[in-house]
Amino acid sequence: MSVKSGLGFSTTGTLFGKYFFKYMNTALNAKKNNVKMAWTNVPSPLELFFANDVIPLQPELLSGVLSAMESKTQKILTEAEKYISRDCCSFQRHIIGNYFLKGFPRNPDMIVSTIPNSCDAQGKSFDLLNYYEKKPILYLDFGAEENEEGIEYVKNQLLKAADFIGKHSHYEEFNVDKFKEMVKLSNRCVDLYREICNLRATVKPPPGSSSEGFLLDLFNFTFKGGNFLDGIAYHEEVLKEIKKRIEKGEGFVDNDAPRIMWLFLPPLYNLQLFGEIFEQNNATIVFNELYMTSSHKIENHDLFEGLAKKYVRNIFNGSIEKRIKMNLEAAKKYKIDAAIHYSIWGCRQSTSGAPSIQQAFQDEGIPFLILDGDCVDPTQCSAGQVKTRLEAFLEMLR
Ligand code: SF4
Repeated sequence: MSVKSGLGFSTTGTLFGKYFFKYMNTALNAKKNNVKMAWTNVPSPLELFFANDVIPLQPELLSGVLSAMESKTQKILTEAEKYISRDCCSFQRHIIGNYFLKGFPRNPDMIVSTIPNSCDAQGKSFDLLNYYEKKPILYLDFGAEENEEGIEYVKNQLLKAADFIGKHSHYEEFNVDKFKEMVKLSNRCVDLYREICNLRATVKPPPGSSSEGFLLDLFNFTFKGGNFLDGIAYHEEVLKEIKKRIEKGEGFVDNDAPRIMWLFLPPLYNLQLFGEIFEQNNATIVFNELYMTSSHKIENHDLFEGLAKKYVRNIFNGSIEKRIKMNLEAAKKYKIDAAIHYSIWGCRQSTSGAPSIQQAFQDEGIPFLILDGDCVDPTQCSAGQVKTRLEAFLEMLR
């Protein structure tokens, strides 16, 4: 195989960095440039912010990237211990420590706290920080089943959010025309993302590495480039690179190498080295569950209903039965040989359903590993132990 697997060599990695720093720079200079800035969580309806020229700063994304860059992680987490228990997930601890160390822009014009159904940590962190900031805050609840009632509920939540964001933007009311424009751009981003992921998951040899897949999905799960035009440009470049590799027959592993599906987030603090364990063992992650959080388009005539469906369909909203069904369908569609669930310390969303998903996969004859670890805090788990368990699992698949 002739392609180097390091992220430094790939468009997926270098452009992720380029657009991330551009986005952070815009957020850092928002006040100076008279641009409105909001704090929000991951995931968040970016269409509503972009429609009103508001920069949606996601402190959780910053925590992940700083941890991947190994930038002051322990100092930040130690600072957080003054305010929050170590039992809380490391993303939220990192946000709190980073805030008190002045690691991200303060004084937002508004806070939109999105609450997926089984994570109550996100809202609590913004509550704590808003004790000091005292800014207008809105809680946006996406935790609904995919049925008529659930969609109506989330649609009403989104209408409230649109009013709130519009009112605190320079427009002083929601910008409907620009929203329509943003929906078109958002859908274009999703089309490109779907095309790339489909090639990654179906072509042999797999034209993308495990680390690249993690970054691509994180890009879509979080900031999408900071605006949809940059998001589209990112995907066009990544797609071009993937197609070039396919034309040349380049891949990262052999044609018959085990094809792995990854569930939940990866360990960000060691992302590149971790991803490389797969290719070094002639296996590769061809599909991430995270894809099913961000690959839905806004398709309705009623755009708010369309947006509601997009968020309700997110795999992490609703019941564990829904999560199992969507994952099994994907595993069959992409002819997955094995699946790995990364269960994060302190995260109820990732840990509580894992044994049920494991059972369902094993009933279908698909080997399934539950790997305990952390995303941000390397001291919460032993990197050596994670590597050993992973290698033993990959060895068993050969
Ligand atoms: S890792 Fe889990 S607990 Fe932490 S913010 Fe994400 S869903 Fe919530």
